[in-house]
Amino acid sequence: LKNSDIVLYVENLTVSFDGFKALNDLTFYLNSGELRCFIGPNGAGKSTMMDVLTGKTKVDSGSAWFVPDVKDKNPRNMLNLLEMDEVSIANAGIGRKFQKPSVFETISVAQNLELALRCKRNILSAYRAKLDSEQSDFLLSTLERIKLSDKANDLASSLSHGQKQWLEIGMLLMQKPSLIMLDEPVAGMTPEEIDMTIDLLYELEGENTIMVIEHDMDFIRAIANQVVVLNQGTVLAEGDMDCIQSNPKVIEAYLGE
Ligand code: ADP
Ligand code: MG
Repeated sequence: LKNSDIVLYVENLTVSFDGFKALNDLTFYLNSGELRCFIGPNGAGKSTMMDVLTGKTKVDSGSAWFVPDVKDKNPRNMLNLLEMDEVSIANAGIGRKFQKPSVFETISVAQNLELALRCKRNILSAYRAKLDSEQSDFLLSTLERIKLSDKANDLASSLSHGQKQWLEIGMLLMQKPSLIMLDEPVAGMTPEEIDMTIDLLYELEGENTIMVIEHDMDFIRAIANQVVVLNQGTVLAEGDMDCIQSNPKVIEAYLGE
């Protein structure tokens, strides 16, 4: 891939909490349209990495630049993520799903998606009475994508854990992000739900650039070519799953898990 296809430049990120370095000189680059998996033992800094890139956590040092539109090569339109707040980062096209599903339980599945759509950019449009036909079509196609069409009018609280995870991914998609970050999307899912999530990610791949943090090795093997192993806040190894799983440094990092 050419240099110019990079959509995320992360260089030398360091974050400490009371002197403990949760990220320690973390550097990586993400290409447009790729799906990159991040693995690593508990406490390696994976969630902190996403916290930094979505404006939740401030860094000690380093840089993180995002290219909102990969076709626009003007470096002046690159965004310095470390100077932005959470809302501007979301509006710039970075959608993040947290580890625990957080949907609005007391409204329906379709209303959750509608809310996500209306909250994008212009909070005033939240008061408009009806979605236009293009928006309604988009909502219906998203429902289909996340396999919840038959649950559209059910309360979100009635969904299974896995279905809530998909609904939250659907809410992300309603905001049409160009970069999607998923923190442990299949945690707590049944094997059938995991298979369905693999299908969903196959569909999203290529349309979006995706970062996934996961522990489930079979899942990672199914979705990703390129895997980054984080340990103690930095990149320990990078490569395909076979090369990662036979790497002595990686095996050692996971001992005691
Ligand atoms: P991972 O997601 O890889 O399991 P985290 O990024 O959640 O790891 O955490 C990395 C380290 O930073 C852990 O030791 C964790 O306890 C610590 N940490 C994360 N967030 C905070 C915080 N807000 N305050 C203090 N320590 C934190
Ligand atoms: Mg985590």
